[in-house]
Amino acid sequence: MKLYNLKNHNEQLSFIEATKIGLGSQQGLFFPLELPKFNIKTINSLLNLDFISRNYEILSTYIGKEISSSKLANCIEKAFSFPVPVKYVTNNIYCIELFHGPTLAFKDFGGRFLAQILSHVIDENEKITILTATSGDTGAAISHAFHGMKNIRVVVLYPKYNISILQEKLFCTIGDNIETIAVEGDFDICQSLVKMAFNDKDLKKSIFLNSANSINICRLLAQICYYFEAVSYFPEEIRNDVVISVPSGNFGNLTAGLLAKSLGLPIKRFIAATNINDTVPRYLSNGIWKPKKTISTISNAMDISHPNNWSRIEELFCRESWNLTDLAYGSVSDQTTKSSILELAEKGYISEPHSIIAWYLLQKNIKNNEFGCFLGTAHPAKFQDTIEKIIKKQIILPPELLKYISLPILSYDIKPTFKNLCDVLLK
Ligand SMILES: *Cc1c(COP(=O)(O)O)cnc(C)c1O
Repeated sequence: MKLYNLKNHNEQLSFIEATKIGLGSQQGLFFPLELPKFNIKTINSLLNLDFISRNYEILSTYIGKEISSSKLANCIEKAFSFPVPVKYVTNNIYCIELFHGPTLAFKDFGGRFLAQILSHVIDENEKITILTATSGDTGAAISHAFHGMKNIRVVVLYPKYNISILQEKLFCTIGDNIETIAVEGDFDICQSLVKMAFNDKDLKKSIFLNSANSINICRLLAQICYYFEAVSYFPEEIRNDVVISVPSGNFGNLTAGLLAKSLGLPIKRFIAATNINDTVPRYLSNGIWKPKKTISTISNAMDISHPNNWSRIEELFCRESWNLTDLAYGSVSDQTTKSSILELAEKGYISEPHSIIAWYLLQKNIKNNEFGCFLGTAHPAKFQDTIEKIIKKQIILPPELLKYISLPILSYDIKPTFKNLCDVLLK
């Protein structure tokens, strides 16, 4: 698989190289040179396969021969080792629950696949530092996926005050090869510090930096797989009428969905669902790209006003000659987020502040003859306080979370300057 840098098309790398460095020169993201396609017959037979076998077909089609088939199969089996149920929610709307992995959010898919691939492709005597910014869930997924791996140091930046206590406990208590930095600032600031580090050639060389956020193409490829799982749930007669709604922040998830469509998966329409940080919905409505200051919301993992993956989405629409007007969109206030959580809880489905935004826009947008599926991106227990206040009922914590609650936070606290970040990195 060859990829090119969106900022410098002459910079072309293999899948392994792109996975290892994460981000190209001028902070450019990597994008596939070839967009593979399945015909309808192949799609239908893929949809009849089980999750693991199907994922192998999808990922090997993209990745090609760079990784031997037995190694790739092994990575896939280890990475996707948890259930992905599709549940009925309301009327003709379903939720694909992507939160049954070890850190209870969809970030486990990309994080675990990346960890497996990297552990197969780095040499015995190579040392790398994975530097990543998280708005909440990436940090946990990456930290758990890489914990204890030889020769890999993980450094995660997160916005100190915009993260739930449980989210923080889940990855800032691990230690060993996992270091965490609480930044006094929002996610966009964390992300810009990470980008500065990648731009610093000396630093990048001296500690061999790699990015594990949704900038890394390896994570996006892994996420293509569950869109196939979502569609496979629907009977063949209605598969052409499925609308998928994606709660979006950095827009990695939606990029993966669009790549699934580009492969030939029949998805009728996507909905780009954001909270009040609505750079993309405003852009889709008036054509003007104008990020505003990031506002904190209860769907904190989506508090992003400079969504990194947007350049990939534009590139894909251009390469496929699709029209951006085909993309449905909307943004949802905290107030509507809360009232919708209550409304769904009364109907018997407990959701959380991110996924519910996708549900809300989906039930508004969908037509009578269509079927809807929204991505359940995190487990409600991760937002226990917020949700209990809204639904006035107790939420049971899964055992995966319980054991972290009593552990101390091990993070460094820093003010958001590049020098402070370097001090930690070069320590
Ligand atoms: C990361 C995250 C999102 C946003 O996903 P993107 O790929 O960044 O658009 C949505 N919901 C939850 C729970 C997340 O952790």
